[in-house]
Order: sequence, then structure tokens, then C-alpha cells
Amino acid sequence: MAALEQSGVQVDTPQPLTVLTEDEALFQSTVRQFAREQITPHVRAMDEAAAFRKEILAQFFQMGLMGIEIPEEYGGQGGTFFQAVLAVEELSAVDPAAGVIVDVQNTLSINALLRWATPQQKAKYFPRLAKNTVAAYALSEAGSGSDAFAMATRAEDRGDQFLITGRKLWITNAAEAGLFLLFANANPEAGYKGVTAFLIERDFPGFQVGKKEDKLGIRASSTCELILDNCKVPRANVLGEFGQGYKIAIETLNEGRIAIGAQMVGLARGALGHAVSYAKERKQFGKPIGEFQGVQFELAKIAVDVEAARLLVYNAARLKDAGRPFTAEAAMAKYFASEIAENAASKAIEVHGGVGFTKDYPVEKLYRDAKIGRIYEGTSNIQLMTIAKKLLGK
Ligand SMILES: Cc1cc2nc3c(=O)[nH]c(=O)nc-3n(C[C@H](O)[C@H](O)[C@H](O)COP(=O)(O)OP(=O)(O)OC[C@H]3O[C@@H](n4cnc5c(N)ncnc54)[C@H](O)[C@@H]3O)c2cc1C
Repeated sequence: MAALEQSGVQVDTPQPLTVLTEDEALFQSTVRQFAREQITPHVRAMDEAAAFRKEILAQFFQMGLMGIEIPEEYGGQGGTFFQAVLAVEELSAVDPAAGVIVDVQNTLSINALLRWATPQQKAKYFPRLAKNTVAAYALSEAGSGSDAFAMATRAEDRGDQFLITGRKLWITNAAEAGLFLLFANANPEAGYKGVTAFLIERDFPGFQVGKKEDKLGIRASSTCELILDNCKVPRANVLGEFGQGYKIAIETLNEGRIAIGAQMVGLARGALGHAVSYAKERKQFGKPIGEFQGVQFELAKIAVDVEAARLLVYNAARLKDAGRPFTAEAAMAKYFASEIAENAASKAIEVHGGVGFTKDYPVEKLYRDAKIGRIYEGTSNIQLMTIAKKLLGK
């Protein structure tokens, strides 16, 4: 286990992991209140319509939730990765579809630009992303999911521009996005070392957003196909170095999956909250069902799981902000949080009895939403592979 033991973090005054700074606590309570008051009334309708309300998206921008880590000089909040994680947790406690919109914007797309964009690219795109432009992250294809670098999308070098041709699948935020961080292979003979990252604007010639998926859960979050037919991308829109796209993809996904852990912690917390409220109200045998030990123990077990998952997520996020190694910790956080979220939502339905199985109560939606946690940003098997690699020193 030595390889997984703590990465030598030494601080003078260690803090409990759940203790927040004043700024973080204020940020958390602001997002929590917004989610409860402004999103809750629309959750069911957005799920049924499979569409996210434009007004709420506009409010995300106004509140700075779409540019949490963008430096203030570009109109962003100048916040931390940890704050992005807090936002995703709070939104997901009310609606995990809202959580993933903010997740992809901040922890995948903006995060990649922060690390790899040139000063010119930052000056061009950060003000837009902070103000009104949704971003999407396009890696997966029909033939390449877990084996992401087996992608078939090709970029042809034409000097001052690239011509990109291919199709991407499953792209979150694509219906709303104005900017796409897209991976294509610009030198297939070099294998994964040909993969290059490009910044593609929605109106670039040859670019089109295709079919929107009709999904089991997180239905209000758009998931679409992208079609590129000799899409013209200026050379200035290569993100990072030519042939280094695989590194950008791996590193951003390592980070992004911490926030998927946060999405699942929020979801599980939301399910627990609904179950506790119902257990206090619903009477059988002349008393609230929450007075039966059988119900109490189910609630207590979910609470343990939520706490454990949150500690994993917060620790991974704190390690990332501290510039410490966090890859295995991030994989553990995402793996564990997505496992417990599905269980929490399932048990919350059981605590509700028959009404939990209907759309009149919010827990059936959370159960549907939980399933995606084990699939995107690396399936549970891929997380286990990452953890095992570290264990075995590979
Ligand atoms: C709602 C939704 C949103 C998404 N958003 C995005 C997005 O914004 N951007 C993006 O690029 N992608 C996105 N994805 C794609 C997502 O990341 C992939 O679906 C995921 O990585 C799995 O790939 P796959 O679907 O091709 O499954 P596969 O890779 O075909 O996996 C199928 C099964 O085989 C298992 N498996 C595969 N390889 C191995 C192995 N070596 N060892 C053990 N088991 C293995 C997997 O664990 C899984 O159980 C999204 C997907 C969904 C459903």
C-alpha cells in the first residue's frame, strides 16, 4: 500500500477535511440557496422536457458559476478547483443535470485552458466563457470510449489551418455550447502521440451539432453527436502542443472526475435529505416510519456513505489545489461516490415506499440520474484500473 499512502502532505496546522475557509463557506451557502430556491421548482419539468432552462443557465453566468477558476482579469471569479467541486455538489443535491453542466464548463474545459492555452487564447476565450459561452469537451466517439485514443477523427495539416473530419459522440453541453475542446488525430502513424487538442467555435465552417440523445437520467443536460466535415480550424486554435492532446485528455479527465465524485456526493445527499423528510412525515402503525429502527438504520447507513464519499472527494480536490499527486485519489473518489450514490437513491425510494416509485416524488429521478456516475469520465472499471496500476507500481 505504500504507493497509495498519503503523498507526504505536511502542514503546520492540519485542518479537518470538511472545514471550509470563510470564502468557501460563503460560496457554498450562496450556491446551496440558489439551487434550492431557483432550481428546485423546475427540476421535474426540465427532466420531462429533456431541456435545461435558459434562464437558469443565464443565472449561472451571472453568479460566476461558469467561470469559477477563470482569473478575475478576464471577468472570472479567480476561484479554486475546490470551489468548483463545492458548486457541483450543491447543484447536484437538487439536480445532477445542473451539476454536470457546471462540471464540464469548469473542471474539464476551463481547467484545460488554464493549463495549456496560450496568452492569446486565454485573452480571446476566457472573457466569453466567463460571460455567456458554454463549453463542451469532445473526446469520445462511437468506436472509442474507454479506449479513447483509438479515435477515428482526423486532422489534416494545411499549414495555417487544419481540416478536421470525423464524428464525436456523447458530448455533454453540446446543444448549448459555443466552444468545443475537441480531440483529433493529426498524425495517425504516431498512434496516440498524434492526438491533438483543438478549440473549435460552433460556427466554424464544416462543424455541426448532430442528434441529441434521449437518456435515462440527467435528461436536462444535453448529450449530442458532433459532425465535422473538413471543418476549418486555424492553426492558432491548437490547444497545447501538436501531438500532446493525449496528455491534455488524460490530465483533464483525472481532474474532472473528482467533480463527478462531487456530483454523486450531492446526488446521494439529496436522496438522503428526501428520505429523512419523508421518514419524519409518513405514519404507519400509528407513528412516523422514522421511529422504526429498520428505517433509521437505512438512513444512518446512507449518511455514513455520503460522509465517506465526501471525504474522498474533498481530499482529492484539496490535493489537486495543493499541487500534490492525486490521480489514484481522484479515481477512488469517483469510483466510490458513484457506487454509493446509486445505493443511496435506491434506498431512498424504498424509504418512500410506493410513492417513491412515482414521478410525484424526486427520488426516482435521482435513481435514474445516479447511473451515469459509473459510466462517464471513465467507467468504474477504468477507475479500478487506475487504482490498481498505482498499487502495482505500473
Ligand atoms: C450522458 C453521457 C455524457 C457523456 N459526456 C461526454 C462528454 O462530454 N465528452 C466525452 O468525450 N465523452 C462523454 N461521454 C462518453 C463517456 O465518457 C463514455 O461513454 C465512457 O467513457 C465509456 O465509453 P463507452 O460508452 O464507449 O463504453 P466502452 O468503452 O465500450 O465500455 C463498455 C464496458 O466495457 C468495460 N471495459 C472497457 N474496456 C475495459 C477494460 N480494458 N477492462 C475492463 N473493462 C473494460 C467498461 O467498463 C464498460 O463496462 C458521455 C457519455 C454519456 C452516456
